[in-house]
Amino acid sequence: MALDLIIKNGTVVDGSGMPRYRADVGVEGGRIVEIGRIRAAAERTIDADGLIVAPGFIDGHTHMDAQVAWDPIGSCSCWHGVTSVVMGNCGFALAPCKPEDREWFARCLTAVEDIPTEAMLAGIEWNWETFPEYLANVERLPKALNYGMYIGHSALRMYAMGRRGLEETATEDDLRAMAHAVAEAVRAGAMGFSTSRATTHITPDGAPVASRIAAWEEIDRLVGAMAELDSGIFQIGPDISGGEAQRVFLERLRRVALDTGRPIMFGTLATKQGKDPNPWDYQMRWLDETVAQGGRVWGQATTRSINAIFSLKSYLPFDQLPGWREIRALPLDEQKARLRDPEVRRRLVAEEANMKPKGAEMQGGGAATTDPRKPDYANLFPMFDVDWDDPSVADLAKAQNKHPVEIIIDLALENDNRVFVQPLVNESPDDVLGLLKHPRSLATFSDSGAHVCQEMGSSLQTHLLSYWVRKRQQFTLEEAVRMLTFDNASAWELPDRGLVRTGYAADLVVFDEDRIRPRLPTVEQDLPGGARRLVQKADGIAATIVNGAVAFENGETTGNYAGEVLKGRLAKRA
Ligand SMILES: [Zn+2]
Repeated sequence: MALDLIIKNGTVVDGSGMPRYRADVGVEGGRIVEIGRIRAAAERTIDADGLIVAPGFIDGHTHMDAQVAWDPIGSCSCWHGVTSVVMGNCGFALAPCKPEDREWFARCLTAVEDIPTEAMLAGIEWNWETFPEYLANVERLPKALNYGMYIGHSALRMYAMGRRGLEETATEDDLRAMAHAVAEAVRAGAMGFSTSRATTHITPDGAPVASRIAAWEEIDRLVGAMAELDSGIFQIGPDISGGEAQRVFLERLRRVALDTGRPIMFGTLATKQGKDPNPWDYQMRWLDETVAQGGRVWGQATTRSINAIFSLKSYLPFDQLPGWREIRALPLDEQKARLRDPEVRRRLVAEEANMKPKGAEMQGGGAATTDPRKPDYANLFPMFDVDWDDPSVADLAKAQNKHPVEIIIDLALENDNRVFVQPLVNESPDDVLGLLKHPRSLATFSDSGAHVCQEMGSSLQTHLLSYWVRKRQQFTLEEAVRMLTFDNASAWELPDRGLVRTGYAADLVVFDEDRIRPRLPTVEQDLPGGARRLVQKADGIAATIVNGAVAFENGETTGNYAGEVLKGRLAKRA
């Protein structure tokens, strides 16, 4: 009997953390059926001599909810070895949603996550209202990756309460309706329920998003609705606006963890922003203490700094200044011509002195790009390479005896694809390493699908393998692969993914451990309606297999869309 696919002569890093070994991997009916020296014939063979064969990577923190409607390949995550994502994080989801609220939803997602409204209105066929209907819609969509999803609190609150959800405390009737919808979603296959209390999450009017209006008792009730079903994960965008705010937030969250017993996840970050920020290990101690008291909690850690990204083709920090605004409205070529004019340059450089100084407020990728403060040039880096060792704009200005704004103009003119990164959180590699080394942190949190022109986290997997494994040698390849696969599959309770093991889904990534590496990001105009976004690809990945189908070869889609919806435990029983 011929197998569907054999990956021959590769070195298996199986996701468990166990040492690597040479073996062929045989695939049949979307599953791994044989591992070892395989003599059977196969319809398709991939020669993986000299390459690593690992489980496909799993990213549990994305915002692909809108993008999945128009982008069957699942970019940019798909270019970094990812085969499964979870979306609907931080309370932002597209379901449940009443028809009259669609445009408002789209505008909220634009305000918070920088997903262009025009792309959403042009690219989405809104044919759902409830969460189960949305899930069924995703099930029908052609998709190269597997998608799990939460029911999102901001969506749910608007659904149950209308515009009152943006201002008012929920009534008993509201709570009952929301708890019912959470239970319905979890039964239909939601991975759980998500919310946000992050001060960076605001509506188009600058007001808090709906989930931030909720009293904690509402969260108790909705996580409680999952507890009654013994199913569902609770994900929450944390308040990190300052040290005291974070301590109050985490104290209250601990009560939810202990009272409900549901698994809880939130982003663990190292930050120097905000008022008297806590040291990063404060969160890790909280995780350990909460688990010691009987809770089940994880931190989500990305593998590098989270940056506001600037470029000539997207945002520059100076765009809001009157003289700049006038030039930035011109076509790119005309902008460049003006930026070369010495007189114009002098004016533009001088105007920078009028920028608002940065105070203690916490700025996320949104405000940092659309309402930027005067840059700290020691914390602004032209990206010459992806290895986290570029000189700062301040360094370059000093070395060349120029104003920092001139440095930015020069570098942007030299290469209009050049991006500049301003770390917002996780500024120090050592802090990031501490977060990643903690056994209760998960390597995830790309925010893929969001902040499309403001941040670029989709390369977190290839960055872990190229920077932390190969360059810094802080993890063995086996450890890093386990972090991206088995650990995440375990945390999200995906029963048959995250390992190269017979009987498991054939989600596999075949890569060169000496070459795998993110490329530099670029700004492209490839969204529906021609909207722009940051795109980042990677080198060194030979093939990505999803549910037994070869989905990507050397970074190019094969047109095989074998992705599935990842459902929580209750749906599988049905
Ligand atoms: Zn998020």
